[in-house]
Amino acid sequence: MAQKRPNIPESVKRQIRQRCGFGCVICGLPLYEYEHIAEWSAVKRHDPDEMTLLCPTHHAEKTRGLLPVAEVKSADQAPFNFRSGQSESFPLRYSGDSCLVSIGGSIWRHEFTQDAVVPLLVIRGCAVIEVKKQDERLLLSLRVYNKQAKPLLQIVENELVFSTSSWDVELVGRLLTIRGGSRDILVQMEFQTPDAILITRGVFAFGGAQIQVEPDHIHLPKYNIRMAGYSARGNGGSALRFD
Ligand SMILES: [Zn+2]
Repeated sequence: MAQKRPNIPESVKRQIRQRCGFGCVICGLPLYEYEHIAEWSAVKRHDPDEMTLLCPTHHAEKTRGLLPVAEVKSADQAPFNFRSGQSESFPLRYSGDSCLVSIGGSIWRHEFTQDAVVPLLVIRGCAVIEVKKQDERLLLSLRVYNKQAKPLLQIVENELVFSTSSWDVELVGRLLTIRGGSRDILVQMEFQTPDAILITRGVFAFGGAQIQVEPDHIHLPKYNIRMAGYSARGNGGSALRFD
């Protein structure tokens, strides 16, 4: 009788993600499967050193024998995302005439009637979250840091790129989580495409000023201000500004 294949423990999955740069070792895509380099039937164990990350396309190529195992092994030794220190860019599918951005439980909505660039969160004159409507496209841009002002991720006109030096980065469903340790969530955001993004953890910063986002409030450590439950429906003049 065939032996039932046990689930891969979460700690093993994390070790594989960390070793593989949080993306397919061949192309860097943060949508992947946990793959045994040698077939499961041959090894029958979940050893993180014998496993790798492959996106659905490269997984299918390997399964069909079109992607040689030797190539997977060499990519596993030098994963795509570690070559540049940041992930391959991943396109977010935002579109339409309206958007909703939720940050720490405060909500901004904007309806576009024409092409425009709309700042939603402004720190010292710099738009750290911005939405642009251009030629039928809705383009989101933002940058997120840790409390030590180290950049963790950026979205530039819908192209998501994250640093591979974080302890863990995981995209599960539409939820992106970046961790600094096992109980230390640095960034959490849900991409509710086509028109919404929910940010529940992260630090936004510019020019030495910092805004810390927690699940139910925004915290400005410099002024010891906490803000919760703000809601704006905008024409472009309703951005949250900290000057
Ligand atoms: Zn791939």
